[in-house]
Amino acid sequence: MSYEFTLIQGDGIGPDITDAAVKVIEHAGVKITWDMQPAGLSAIEKYKDPLPQETLDSIARTKIALKGPLTTPVGKGFRSINVALRKEFDLYANVRPAKTYPGIKTLYDHIDLIIFRENLEEFYSGIEHYIDSSRSAAETIGIVTRRGCERILRYAFDQAMKKGRKKVTAVHKANILKYTSGLFLDVAREIAKEYPDLEFNDKIIDNMAMQMVLNPYQFDVIVTTNLFGDILSDLASGLVGGLGMAPGANLGPDVGIYEAVHGSAPDIAGKNLANPAAIILASVMLLEHIGEIEAAQRIERAVASVIAEGKYVTKDINPLNYVGTKELTNAILKKLDK
Ligand code: NAD
Repeated sequence: MSYEFTLIQGDGIGPDITDAAVKVIEHAGVKITWDMQPAGLSAIEKYKDPLPQETLDSIARTKIALKGPLTTPVGKGFRSINVALRKEFDLYANVRPAKTYPGIKTLYDHIDLIIFRENLEEFYSGIEHYIDSSRSAAETIGIVTRRGCERILRYAFDQAMKKGRKKVTAVHKANILKYTSGLFLDVAREIAKEYPDLEFNDKIIDNMAMQMVLNPYQFDVIVTTNLFGDILSDLASGLVGGLGMAPGANLGPDVGIYEAVHGSAPDIAGKNLANPAAIILASVMLLEHIGEIEAAQRIERAVASVIAEGKYVTKDINPLNYVGTKELTNAILKKLDK
């Protein structure tokens, strides 16, 4: 079977790591024609638009995109293209697995968590403004809806069942944010009753952050709102050796956009230093989604094996003895040949 999907190379290290992912997928024998489309800074330079209509049309048509990281100016300039893409395609579920791979120095072994983050509501909906002309105060409005909570919670519970997971933890701050976080917690408790085979508990975000560092083994599937999910998923990637190994998927009813959790890493762009493993593992999620399970498993095994051997790893994994993006990618390609 052959497919056509959208490829957004992205900014900074994006072109190098997406190139690696495309080669690895091809090498695993899955035939994908990539419709290359611009977004982010590179799109501004070329089209004067960080998110050209052609890119949106391509994703709407192909339904699946592999996306490199996009630079978002801090505090000024255009709004996040990632947030715009999530809104455009109703990508309400952000799925971020965090798994340890032998060979990477981590605080704990055998971590295998999945974080489900609500992706559209609350403080990331972009409803914010200065409340006076002298800009002495600013306001951000975070709206949480019952429908938004239901969708992400149901998706998390359904996926927990499908993947044979045992426990779901809902994370909130309902003691202080009694309405927004309170609504999320109420809906979580209601939905949990429909899944009697899954153990369910809830944790307040601040305690959760500490508990994840002290004893991550008490968690399995974590589901939470947008801001908490953004922070907790980076914490989880820290538990498994950093952003270089953390993949993510943004999923909606029709469209899925697969990416690495990390950003465009301008500090190492163009230096052949970026670890491509996160976007390659995001490609594994993409392949699983389209039913190419065997190829997905082979790629994950190849990545795991190269990392475990430790001979061809990037600087973020071993700062004392490292190779570049291209060399790590070649080592994965060689493993796939075996
Ligand atoms: P970042 O993730 O780009 O970098 C944080 C640190 O991790 C840097 O030291 C970087 O060198 C390192 N790093 C990141 N990915 C790496 C990799 N694959 N291999 C080796 N080292 C890696 O975060 P930042 O510096 O806060 O953000 C830079 C830009 O990326 C910002 O404009 C931000 O808005 C954007 N961003 C985009 C996305 C996305 O497109 N999904 C996600 C996060 C940040």
